[in-house]
Amino acid sequence: MPMTVQRATTVKPVSFEDTSIAFSSQSNGKLLKTYWLFALMNRGWVVNLGTFFIKLAFRLQLPIKKLIKETIFQQFCGGETISDCNRTIECLHKAHVGTILDYSVEGEGNEAGFDETVLEILRTIERSSESDAVPFSVFKVTGLASSELLEKVQSGTALTPEEEAAYARVRQRVDTLCHRACERNVKIFIDAEESWLQSTIDDLAYEMMERYNHQQCIVYNTYQFYRWESFSHLKEATEKARQKGYYLGAKLVRGAYIEKERIRAHEEEYQDPIHLTKEDTDRDFNLAVDYCLENRDILFVCLGTHNEYSCQYCIRRMQELGIEPGDSHIWFAQLLGMSDNISFNLANAGYKVAKYVPYGPVEAVMPYLFRRAAENKSIAGQSSREYTLVKNELKRRKNCRPA
Ligand SMILES: Cc1cc2nc3c(=O)[nH]c(=O)nc-3n(C[C@H](O)[C@H](O)[C@H](O)COP(=O)(O)OP(=O)(O)OC[C@H]3O[C@@H](n4cnc5c(N)ncnc54)[C@H](O)[C@@H]3O)c2cc1C
Repeated sequence: MPMTVQRATTVKPVSFEDTSIAFSSQSNGKLLKTYWLFALMNRGWVVNLGTFFIKLAFRLQLPIKKLIKETIFQQFCGGETISDCNRTIECLHKAHVGTILDYSVEGEGNEAGFDETVLEILRTIERSSESDAVPFSVFKVTGLASSELLEKVQSGTALTPEEEAAYARVRQRVDTLCHRACERNVKIFIDAEESWLQSTIDDLAYEMMERYNHQQCIVYNTYQFYRWESFSHLKEATEKARQKGYYLGAKLVRGAYIEKERIRAHEEEYQDPIHLTKEDTDRDFNLAVDYCLENRDILFVCLGTHNEYSCQYCIRRMQELGIEPGDSHIWFAQLLGMSDNISFNLANAGYKVAKYVPYGPVEAVMPYLFRRAAENKSIAGQSSREYTLVKNELKRRKNCRPA
């Protein structure tokens, strides 16, 4: 039964403006570097030009790795290997922020590459099992399977015998990861991807939940609320979990592939799966927050968002429903190098928070970094907010310095 106990409480919002908490783990030097990076990313033309030259430099094998490593890579990634990430893990842990090791390599796309990725994700599960500092693991199904195969499975077209065998290996890889996560009592997210692959990913996720989520919530699927169907999918999945008696793990996000989705829907002349407006996406995201809180007898939720309103909304609803900040059913997650004002202030107020910490060889995580740069480049976008916060903190520190 949905849990709708409403308590009369005075709602205490968490301030996301407290930059002294947000940047407590950053030295003046590191903060200054962050300031310059966001100042540059605020200018769209710098990002466009920079992206072009970096791609060219890698193609020409120019020695730019050191420069990348000390700037954008250091801002958004934990390191090249899991052990490189230890400093970041410790630093976040001191502020009660967990780490989600995100192996961000977009691989070779062949069977050997997929098997390698499985081995690496297994290492992240082991690392997570060793310490509370790493509360979740994560993987993308496209790291374990060819997108063409996932798409063909989704289309319902008959597979050739070779494809049948390849898909059996994909299911086996997904099961290997979820089984190990269950054995080690580590929670694991399955990221959401493009709509033409997502039904296949959903089916795999539910198969795993049915297998591993009976005693506790191990496997989480991801719901993208820029898709107008997602809220009803979430409700259907909850009902199915209820009937079959397993926990539903739900990571709520808005969705990262809007441009690609719109272009393909337009080119191939099918109905755009994305909401018409940002407001529609925001409304569904916040409705889903409510729904998850009210069904927390069966639902475990993680809000993967940098949206301050959605985080405040969740806090308000938690307080109204009498849910403690540290309730293990409810997590917040942001990406490393972004929205520290949300992560650190929420953790400081006792909420459960973790950050995706991407890692991998510099060359291999470049697509991830280009996406972060693109996401941050608009004046109205995230970097403008980050820039202002860092600037405020630098000013605050200057004013605090003894004369
Ligand atoms: C921890 C974490 C995990 C994530 N995991 C995934 C994942 O597995 N899969 C995935 O796809 N993404 C994932 N993301 C990215 C996420 O989907 C968003 O792209 C990103 O976080 C920006 O959205 P926001 O909620 O932070 O806030 P906002 O900045 O408020 O929202 C921006 C988002 O709103 C939506 N939007 C913008 N304009 C419109 C419009 N005109 N119409 C409709 N919708 C619009 C888009 O989704 C856009 O990304 C993750 C993000 C985080 C922080």
